[in-house]
Amino acid sequence: MPELPDVETYKRYFDRTALHKTVAGVRVGDERILRGISAQSIRRKLKGRRLDSTRRHGKHLLVGLDENGWLTFHFGMTGRFRYFKDADQDPKYDRLRLDFDNGHHLAFECKRMLGRVGMADDADGFIKQRRLGPDALQLDQERFRELMSGRRGSIKAALMDQTLIAGIGNIYSDEMLFLAKINPKLSVNALGDRRLSSLYRAMRKVLQTAIKEGAGSEEFSERLPRSYLLHSRKEGATCPRCGGRIRSTKAAGRTAYYCPDCQGDDRAG
Ligand SMILES: [Zn+2]
Repeated sequence: MPELPDVETYKRYFDRTALHKTVAGVRVGDERILRGISAQSIRRKLKGRRLDSTRRHGKHLLVGLDENGWLTFHFGMTGRFRYFKDADQDPKYDRLRLDFDNGHHLAFECKRMLGRVGMADDADGFIKQRRLGPDALQLDQERFRELMSGRRGSIKAALMDQTLIAGIGNIYSDEMLFLAKINPKLSVNALGDRRLSSLYRAMRKVLQTAIKEGAGSEEFSERLPRSYLLHSRKEGATCPRCGGRIRSTKAAGRTAYYCPDCQGDDRAG
């Protein structure tokens, strides 16, 4: 499921291909991908518009138009873009296609239909309306500590709560907890200042490394350092740090992977 680093990769792809182009036509492949807008309205609002800017907030991508506000994308499980020239390259699960005046096309592909596309008058208003917390990479350490203080529940749940911090999901929350050597089930209020600081640094490091190595691209898993847990997300796999056994547990309603030898049990300490 695309998280902040993957969406950043998609943003960069969009910037390289579609940004500054003018929309000559719109084809809605499946209206169920749209949220809060009909196929007819989105076609009307996009046609003739120039795609002027992009902005990522958490797992959302917002595209600023020269008029009519913003086009918004959430990638769900399987959302991604494909830019192509010839109609026969149109991907099978193309749900929304923008046709540009240079004859090229951008498809929003989404096999499992859990992504969504919409329109918003204003980017800040959209973020507020979705009650999204600050973007994980825009957050300074002081604010991170403030957000965590007084929280109940597990640290994994807090990291994944989009209203608290936007952008982190199941995979990257495990990865940053692994790097910071913190058990995913540990209660937030059991973490002292020292461990919160180390988690903050791990959060930035993991997100920046994943972006740098092209999260969401096909070469990503070869490029990501071998020390990352991502290569060993399997019960009984070998811990890339200590050689111990990776275990799974339920945390925040999801399956979390962790190394009991590196990350300890879920008690404070
Ligand atoms: Zn280990």
